[in-house]
Amino acid sequence: MQRVCRGIKQKGKIIGFVPTMGYLHEGHLSLVRVAKKKSDVLVVSIFINPTQFGPKEDFKRYPKNLKRDKRLLKETGCDFLFVPDIKNMYPEGYDTYVEVENLTRILEGASRPEHFKGVTTIVAKLFNIVQPDIAVFGQKDFQQAVVIKRMVKDLNFPVKIIVAPTIREKSGLALSSRNLYLSDEEKKQALVLYQSLNLAKKMIESGERDSRRIKNRMRLLIQKKPKAKIDYIAINDSETLRPLKKLKGNVLISLAVRVGKTRLIDNIKIKV
Ligand code: AMP
Repeated sequence: MQRVCRGIKQKGKIIGFVPTMGYLHEGHLSLVRVAKKKSDVLVVSIFINPTQFGPKEDFKRYPKNLKRDKRLLKETGCDFLFVPDIKNMYPEGYDTYVEVENLTRILEGASRPEHFKGVTTIVAKLFNIVQPDIAVFGQKDFQQAVVIKRMVKDLNFPVKIIVAPTIREKSGLALSSRNLYLSDEEKKQALVLYQSLNLAKKMIESGERDSRRIKNRMRLLIQKKPKAKIDYIAINDSETLRPLKKLKGNVLISLAVRVGKTRLIDNIKIKV
């Protein structure tokens, strides 16, 4: 893959890249379309990266359907699909990790220690292999995009990071490969994530600026759903990720909620 990509670059072509874990949905494909518009050659990777899963997480049962993924990518105009295997990415004796320190201690990082270390390590490896000029990530994993931008800046990767909007079902539920785990009833109750974000948006639009009051109202709404267990609700500056007591500037409202056994995340960004 590295040799192929070096050849493409030597011809002066712009490489666009979308890293994924597969089981593709419209969210992934929207990133592919954004990357396609901004590049000459489009590379997508599918790799279920073991180092970003915690010991009790769903690595072993993460959904896969490579045949369907290949078809969808072909239809969307992907030029190269890179599907490395674990033995090649982490061979015996593998000993090097990339870690963004402070930005990964909060939000998702607080609930999932080691997660971002796995993410930055695999993304750094993929960037070194694919050598993209641009790479597209989803707003759905907002903190991930912030962390990757930090890594790219700090380690001088010659790649431009683009963040594309979250794609949702008509109901408002953010598309996720993990939605497959939800029963019909859980899926209904999972709508409360987006509903609570909309409640926050409405409160802000009516002039509310107190972070605690907004989070309390969101919590009350979510607690009405018996299958929903809140992991966190947070309001942060969307650039620095610093927690905000009073809302000001570019505000990120994000949450993680367990619905049954499935942990879901969502967020919105609001300019105040
Ligand atoms: P994953 O396969 O879950 O690792 O996701 C691969 C990329 O797709 C990441 O950049 C995600 O942020 C992005 N992504 C996942 N779900 C969505 C969505 N509903 N809308 C937009 N991007 C998404």
